[in-house]
Amino acid sequence: MICPKCGSTDVNVSVINEVFEKPEHGCLWWLFIGWWWRLLWFIFFGWWYLLWRALRGGPKTVNKQKEICVCQRCGHRWEMK
Ligand SMILES: [Zn+2]
Repeated sequence: MICPKCGSTDVNVSVINEVFEKPEHGCLWWLFIGWWWRLLWFIFFGWWYLLWRALRGGPKTVNKQKEICVCQRCGHRWEMK
């Protein structure tokens, strides 16, 4: 694993579970922004997500795991493909 920014091999790989990730925002954020952000998200992406899920016929709970690489030298973060 090599950092694309500085070329260092001192890279930490951590797995992030998106489904069970705790929200970083507070209650007020959710009260004022969270709900309409969710609504907007559904309007733009929710349709496609539901359609995709219906066509695929997959499991109802999606356990999406992301592998995030963090460079220990320059702090650059990127997603592992
Ligand atoms: Zn780096």
